[in-house]
Amino acid sequence: MAETIFKRIINGEIPCHKVYEDEHVLAFLDINPISRGHTLVIPKEPAETLDQLSDDASAAIGRVLPRLCRAVQRATGVQAYNVLQNNGAGAHQAVFHVHFHIIPKPNTREGLGVGWPARKLDHAAAAALADEMAALASE
Ligand code: AMP
Repeated sequence: MAETIFKRIINGEIPCHKVYEDEHVLAFLDINPISRGHTLVIPKEPAETLDQLSDDASAAIGRVLPRLCRAVQRATGVQAYNVLQNNGAGAHQAVFHVHFHIIPKPNTREGLGVGWPARKLDHAAAAALADEMAALASE
């Protein structure tokens, strides 16, 4: 994969406002925050999208994500937050290195605005889809 700006941050080639680092994970403030405390959590493993990330790197992220959410809450004094993880340009991904956004939601104006075009579930189609996905998930 092409070298991304996040790989350059991991390598120390460009600076960041670091929040957390361990052997597998780095967290730092987003350079264009949509609310105060907007933080990015990234694996050091270079995967473009979450589906390409190894189990070990995923586990390392999962181990620290709640702790980082608590740090964002306590530092900002904001209890409500969204964790956002975009995959693919069509899903608003701009940097092709896996990252999780932790975004405080202090009020209706700041933080993440969510479009949620919900429809009624077709239960017959859903049963077949869930079966297919269950088989794929256990491969
Ligand atoms: P996404 O749309 O999920 O790919 O989000 C990429 C995020 O990376 C955006 O919120 C950017 O503001 C952020 N970003 C890009 N370059 C940097 C940088 N050098 N330091 C910190 N955050 C960055």
